[in-house]
Amino acid sequence: MSVEYSSIICKTALSPSKLPGLRYSLNPYRGCEHGCVYCYSPSVIGDREFAMNWGKVVHPKQNIVEVLTREVKRKPKGVVGVSTVCDPYQQLEAKLELTRRCIELLSRYGFDVSIQTKSSLVLRDVDIIKPHGFEVGATITTMDRELAGKLEPGASPPDARAHVLEEFASRGVETWLFFGPIIPEINDSAESIKKVIEMAKRTNTKIIYDKLNLRRWVLDRLAPVLERERLGLTKRLPALTGKKLGWWLRTCSLIESICRGLEVKCEPAFPSWPSAL
Ligand code: SF4
Repeated sequence: MSVEYSSIICKTALSPSKLPGLRYSLNPYRGCEHGCVYCYSPSVIGDREFAMNWGKVVHPKQNIVEVLTREVKRKPKGVVGVSTVCDPYQQLEAKLELTRRCIELLSRYGFDVSIQTKSSLVLRDVDIIKPHGFEVGATITTMDRELAGKLEPGASPPDARAHVLEEFASRGVETWLFFGPIIPEINDSAESIKKVIEMAKRTNTKIIYDKLNLRRWVLDRLAPVLERERLGLTKRLPALTGKKLGWWLRTCSLIESICRGLEVKCEPAFPSWPSAL
């Protein structure tokens, strides 16, 4: 798939974040060429046209390093999530190195950095990403390469992401596996879940798991893949993932029980809401 690139200017580099464990988020790119069909970043950005072209248009923030250079000197220290609405190691990063220069700066000024990616390009930066001040999370939704290719067409294959975890863990960097989104009847079978958890066991990584979030425009982009995999699922999906959440409670207990059996640490991404039902 061809991707259109055009640079933009940003006013801020570090934005306040409400995500658990993060004080700031930093996104060197607007848009993400991984083009995951379940991605809800477009709804966070709030631009419908951009949402419908998600994965096809990427705007690198050409002045982000200069802006960050000013901000690291005056903003209070805290953990920076890199990144929260794009993948910091999407293909264009290989050429531009915006993420690399940003994390280098953050580290030099004493900010902790929490990286989340689906790309093996992060291994390029092993010389910067050290045990103190960094953690690396890889998102894996399935170990099935073919299914991953349909859900996350531009991302590295699941085994390459597993290798990322293995490599950083062996270097003493804290790692975690983000297992999500879990989608009913797509990647929620016991067999599929077990394969991901076994991989976490092999790489000695804790799991943070989450379900599909049907925010604005997600279903529009997800529907063609769902219909090819499970005819009629698109219609049933809102009820399955909606307020009653019987499916999700069953899935949570399945994950927790497999993790217990394999002695893998795991936790839900948003621990408060399942028990608040
Ligand atoms: S890698 Fe993350 S930000 Fe990029 S498309 Fe996939 S889910 Fe969205």
